[in-house]
Amino acid sequence: MDEPIKKKKTLTKKHKRIIIITSIILIVTTIVSLGTWAGFYYQYGSDPIVENAEAKNIILMIGDGMGFNHIEAAKIYKKLPSLNMEALDIHGKVRTRSLSILPTDSAAAATAIATGYKVQNGEIGMHGKQTYENIFEIAKKKGKKVGFVTTKDACDATIAAFSSHVKNRNMYDEIIKQQIESDIDVIVGMGTKLYDPYADQINTTDRKYCKTIKDIKEAITNKKKIFAILEEEMAEHGESSLAEIVDYARRALENDNGFILLVEGAKIDTYSHSNEIVEMIKELSDFDKAVAKLTTYASENRETFMMVTADHETGDLKIPNVEKATIENMETQNWFKSKHHTSADVPFFAIGPGCEEIPRRTPLDNTDIFHICKQLVENYNKNLPLAA
Ligand SMILES: [Zn+2]
Repeated sequence: MDEPIKKKKTLTKKHKRIIIITSIILIVTTIVSLGTWAGFYYQYGSDPIVENAEAKNIILMIGDGMGFNHIEAAKIYKKLPSLNMEALDIHGKVRTRSLSILPTDSAAAATAIATGYKVQNGEIGMHGKQTYENIFEIAKKKGKKVGFVTTKDACDATIAAFSSHVKNRNMYDEIIKQQIESDIDVIVGMGTKLYDPYADQINTTDRKYCKTIKDIKEAITNKKKIFAILEEEMAEHGESSLAEIVDYARRALENDNGFILLVEGAKIDTYSHSNEIVEMIKELSDFDKAVAKLTTYASENRETFMMVTADHETGDLKIPNVEKATIENMETQNWFKSKHHTSADVPFFAIGPGCEEIPRRTPLDNTDIFHICKQLVENYNKNLPLAA
């Protein structure tokens, strides 16, 4: 009787071992395949969204940190039924995750929009040792002009993702060097302390280092490329407001092959981090005036695709229920519930060619924005000779 029992015990142990090994193999296989799928999805996004549409010009406007409730708060404060950006033809949501576990930062989010690739927070236009071609570089190859305007330093993360490839967003000198070496036609931002040491390299026969609005106007008249690092902050009204400056940039970029203009309302994020809601709304409102200016252009020039969106939400802004949501309690009860970025979906608004193909109910991935712009550029410029 002893023998069979012993045999049975050995079998049970073996069985246990087989079950454990099989389970481990199954778990590992599931994790690997999920990871591969996620990697594939993150790198390539969903199927191409825009197939046949083409755009001569693309205007991409990014309100840094601007979530749905930032827009609602601005409407309450300004007593407006809607903002200018809401007048665009189609509205939807964008997912913002990066490869990092934490909510995305501006570097990874802008890299996703600029290159179509998810990267780790802090990385700009590259992941590990792999650099990714951005939409500005693609457009230049197709003969378009490209440029950007930002309300903060021109080497900050969002802009850097469209104009450089660096391991870390804090590598300002390297970002600036790459911008100087780039073929970008219009650069407008802040940061004289960072850029002034490079003035001699920036000034060339066909590019002007501008410090004032007057310099920008002169460069436009003389048909020079603009590298403008402004001495003074952009104003709320008048010729040095963001709305007027984006219009100068647009005029400098216009040409027969078309252009891409990127505009960043950078301080919406700054004041969301510090939970200063009234200051945040002022920045959002300046940004929205710039939206109005460029919407007028896009409406009159129907070959222009324009999208207004955000890189991520900042501050976990929550609006109290309607009766309680007043200007008075906006500051007294802090509507911000965090001082950091969140992973909430952000809004997008768009007008122009390709809009009819963009899904509105399901969120876009931030990498989709790159694929939409790339397709619009490639379809428009397919028959044009490549730039020298
Ligand atoms: Zn931020």
